Amino acid sequence: TTHLVWLRNDLRMTDNKALYAACSDPDARVLAVFIATPQQWRQHEMAPRQAEFIHANLLQVQQALAERGIPLSYHQCDDFAASVDWLTAYCAQERVDTLFYNRQYEINERQRDQRLEQCLSGKVICQSFDDSLLLPPGSVKTGGGEMYKIYTPFRKAFIQRLTESDVRSLPAPKPRASGALSVATVLAGFDYPPAEPSGDFPAGEEAALQRLRTFCREQVQDYLEQRDRPAIAGTSSLSPYLAIGALSPRQCFNRLRAECPQLLENHDSGAFGWLNELIWREFYRHLMVAYPALCKHRPFIDWTDRVRWRDNQALLQAWQQGATGYPIVDAAMRQLNTTGWMHNRLRMISASFLVKDLLIDWRAGERYFMAQLLDGDLAANNGGWQWAASTGTDAAPYFRIFNPTTQGERFDPQGTFIRKWLPELADVPDNAIHQPHRWAEQQQRVLDYPLPIVDHKQVRLETLAAFEAAKRGE
Ligand code: FAD
Repeated sequence: TTHLVWLRNDLRMTDNKALYAACSDPDARVLAVFIATPQQWRQHEMAPRQAEFIHANLLQVQQALAERGIPLSYHQCDDFAASVDWLTAYCAQERVDTLFYNRQYEINERQRDQRLEQCLSGKVICQSFDDSLLLPPGSVKTGGGEMYKIYTPFRKAFIQRLTESDVRSLPAPKPRASGALSVATVLAGFDYPPAEPSGDFPAGEEAALQRLRTFCREQVQDYLEQRDRPAIAGTSSLSPYLAIGALSPRQCFNRLRAECPQLLENHDSGAFGWLNELIWREFYRHLMVAYPALCKHRPFIDWTDRVRWRDNQALLQAWQQGATGYPIVDAAMRQLNTTGWMHNRLRMISASFLVKDLLIDWRAGERYFMAQLLDGDLAANNGGWQWAASTGTDAAPYFRIFNPTTQGERFDPQGTFIRKWLPELADVPDNAIHQPHRWAEQQQRVLDYPLPIVDHKQVRLETLAAFEAAKRGE
């Protein structure tokens, strides 16, 4: 018998349900395949950095599979439709009996998989798995059988389900009896805009597991105090690995629980605080499955679609380039543009600024983030944007508008983070860093830094009026 594992968003050997299942029959011939779909990725605004990261991780997976006697085939098609055709032919050519894959939950991915299963029906058995979540979508519901729309009750029910579920991590599959293979062909690069490998995020599940172990052992106790300080590396920085499946959420949870056995009993602990973030990740994925319109970038709250957004390319570009004149926003955007990663507090501040200070449609920001992020993930990115834009489920209410200056004062009080990314403000003293032009005026100095492109107090009122008009149906 021949088993084929189709690797997609699960680029790891350990705790990979589809791979593990494909290898469970010691006598089967096991093959693996990865299909790049650059045109589809462009449509999904995937960042070139993320494509590069996928490629780098895939090289490691290819090596690790070969050591276990499993050859990895690599193919490039334009889009999902072409990948279905190619895979159908490949299964016939290799006389595949069973195809194994881990489910993806975005709408195009699900349609692709349905179509593939139709094409293979009667010829190849398809076995798919819920692998990228702690609990499968649809498994955490209200008493009335519906998806929760509010996070806190979702979390409560989620934790209850979690304690009843088997979420143990699986080991990497054992080497095949046929022995190790040598990797003869290095995988070609994708037909995608090139990007430099990230120095901050070395590829591979070993790097991810190492980071996870260190974080859970040494840092998680301080998570609640440090997680909102962008100048401190107080969060795990594991999102790029989770986004492409170089790491699984079960591995995160199990490692956390091994270090902090009282995890679920003490809700005030750093460990619980971190688990809470992993549950936000689950919440947004569960929501996306319950409400597929989210994949089409529809707002969760319908009336917000009537907000009359400003169509202003100059303002949008100033935000994208980190030239708004609001230091915390600009530093955040430059971190994103340079590294492909942005601290969570800053994602909230910069998203809020685009929507509530510039009154630009949140979808322009969602797209821009996706095109830059190394950890780009449709559900988390959409969830984050709809939260910040007050268009989503359990979002910030529209009348709560972040003040970018006081946010900076609160979360980067000495301006350490700001100075790192805005060297042009290096000489500005701590107590003036959030409003540098005021200081420059007093000192009669000229700063090589833009003046604020909008007046927060004034635009705040305009934004409130725009949301209120939309709500009234105007
Ligand atoms: P940690 O604080 O260590 O958290 C651990 C893990 O939990 C993260 O790696 C991530 O997988 C998950 N997580 C944490 N916070 C959230 C959250 N609010 N929503 C969903 N999952 C979360 N996260 C992405 O992975 N991809 C995105 O494309 C993305 N876009 C975002 C856009 C906006 C506007 C906002 C406000 C948030 C976005 N997030 C996104 C969520 C969050 O900012 C990042 O997951 C986090 O900053 C990653 O850093 P970390 O790994 O150090 O997080």
